[in-house]
Formats: sequence, structure tokens, C-alpha cells
Amino acid sequence: MFRDIYDVIVVGGGHAGAEAAAAAANMGSNTLLITMNLQNVGQMSCNPAMGGIAKGQIVREIDALGGYSGIVSDSSAIQFKMLNRSKGPAMWSPRVQSDRMMFAQHWRNKLEQTEHLDFYQEMVTDLLFEKDRIAGVVTTLGIEIKAKSVVLTSGTFLNGLIHIGEKQFGGGRAGESASFGLTERLIERGFTSGRMKTGTPPRVDGRSLDYSKMIEQPGDTTRINSSSKGTWCTAAFSRTRVTDMAMLASTSFPTVSSKVMMSVNVLCFRYLRFNSSRALSSIKA
Ligand SMILES: Cc1cc2nc3c(=O)[nH]c(=O)nc-3n(C[C@H](O)[C@H](O)[C@H](O)COP(=O)(O)OP(=O)(O)OC[C@H]3O[C@@H](n4cnc5c(N)ncnc54)[C@H](O)[C@@H]3O)c2cc1C
Repeated sequence: MFRDIYDVIVVGGGHAGAEAAAAAANMGSNTLLITMNLQNVGQMSCNPAMGGIAKGQIVREIDALGGYSGIVSDSSAIQFKMLNRSKGPAMWSPRVQSDRMMFAQHWRNKLEQTEHLDFYQEMVTDLLFEKDRIAGVVTTLGIEIKAKSVVLTSGTFLNGLIHIGEKQFGGGRAGESASFGLTERLIERGFTSGRMKTGTPPRVDGRSLDYSKMIEQPGDTTRINSSSKGTWCTAAFSRTRVTDMAMLASTSFPTVSSKVMMSVNVLCFRYLRFNSSRALSSIKA
């Protein structure tokens, strides 16, 4: 069922793990994505949003590197908004609100269409080493799977602890188990372990709210995609942005010659020249 040895095993199928698995497999590495629950691949946490302040540009950088977060955000989007428009352009931050079920479904579809990628549902509880080199993982059922490298993207699950009021219980996310075993092994190997906190706002019952006293926050009328795929040089990108993206992609993927990337850049710039007045006037509006 499993390969004798994988090039890469990714532990955890959240946003980070989904991107890591796609990146490794798309680079031609035989990759295995192991996650506790395959129904929750690409699961969004409380706020079903991608982007926002200090994050919108990361989604686009991932997109420029060939990742899928931007594509999935756009295809499952229900609202687009450029935040911070009252400030200068350096402060603008694109944000997409997505349909969380569609988002996870689209992520899973993307991964299932990716070559060189296998899936397995179980918890990884231990790591295999050969001397000081990682050699694979061990699952709850005691299955040993070998790999040349292991990527841990276990999110908030490692010995995760949930506090609700004065109650405390173990958990990775509401309704999901914490992950045990890996933290102890990492500490044994010299890593230090600490706990970080996510501040989850209290949930309110929508039926208890008086919406007539609230101000609606509509999305933008101009759609600004998180992904450049198929929409190069739309309102979101200036010439500089296109150049940055081409340079970033050509330095990150040495197999793509800079000549090819510059051709893309020139084509985009030509397209932009035809469309820029309309696009940029709409973005400033
Ligand atoms: C209650 C809560 C609310 C949050 N709200 C927000 C929010 O509103 N906005 C926001 O941006 N961020 C929020 N976060 C942070 C959120 O965790 C991250 O934004 C995002 O989900 C991190 O993605 P990730 O891929 O790193 O990890 P995760 O999405 O946490 O995914 C980790 C994955 O790894 C799997 N896994 C873990 N350990 C193992 C193991 N040993 N073996 C196999 N599989 C394993 C898990 O099952 C899970 O699928 C919240 C977190 C929590 C806990």
C-alpha cells in the first residue's frame, strides 16, 4: 500500500500541510500526506477568511510560487475586500471570505488531482531516525513509513489544550483530538517546546442580535483575486508587482528560465498597458 520509501512525508493536512504536500509533489517528489482526518483537509478555523493585514501578500507570494491557496480562496469566495483603503497603498490588504465547506472541498480536489501524492488518514505519534537523520514516521497503529524527509505541519494540535471559561481539556480544534507523542520525541531530540495561544472570540447566537442596529460591511464591487492564475494583470497588479512575481518565481524555480519569466513579464506588461487605466481607476475608486 505504501511505497518502500517516500521522498517526503507531510504530517497534517491543514493549510500549511496542503501547500507543503502540493509543492513537494509538484516538484516531482513522491509524497505522502498523513493527516488525522481526511474530511478536514484544508479546514478553515473560526474565521473563514484568507488574507487580511500582513497575510494577503503572503497568499499572493505563495501563489507566485505555484501554490494553491489563492486559487482555492478565489474559487470558494463569497466576498472580496481590500482592507485599509483609507490609508496609503502600502497599507492595503486584500482579504477573501470563503465558503468554508467549499474551500475544504476545493483543496481536496486540487490535491487529489496532483500527481506523485498519496494520502493516509491516521495520527503520527513518533518519528524514525537513522543516527541523526530523520528516516520516517510511526502511526498510532504502530505502522512505520519510511521517508527521506518529514515535514511537520501539525498546527495547533501538538499537545493542544482548549480553555473555555474555567474548564480545560485536550483538543486540537473544537471537536478534534489533540496530537500526542511527537512533542515528547522532539524534546528528546533537543528541540524546545512552548505553548502559543490563539484568541478565539466568543460565539454569539445570531437570533439574539438586533441587526437593525448594525452597519452592513459590504464587500468590494470590484473583484480582486488572490490568485494571478488566469487573471494576470487584473486590477490587483501593478507593473512592479508583476516584475516582482516574475523575479520571485524565476529565482525560486531555477528550472524555469529567467528568459521564460521575463517573456511572461513582458506579455503581462503589454496586457496591463491596455487595461491599466480602467483597472487602476477602479481600484482607486
Ligand atoms: C480555535 C481556533 C481558532 C482559530 N481561529 C483562527 C482564525 O479565525 N483565523 C486564523 O487565521 N487562524 C485561526 N486559528 C489558527 C489556525 O490554526 C491557523 O490559522 C491555521 O489553521 C493554521 O494552519 P496549519 O496548516 O498550520 O494548521 P491546522 O489548520 O491546525 O492543521 C493541522 C493539521 O494537522 C493534523 N495533525 C496534527 N497533528 C497530527 C499528527 N500527529 N498526525 C496526523 N495529523 C496531524 C490535524 O488533524 C490538522 O488537520 C485558530 C486556531 C484555533 C485552534
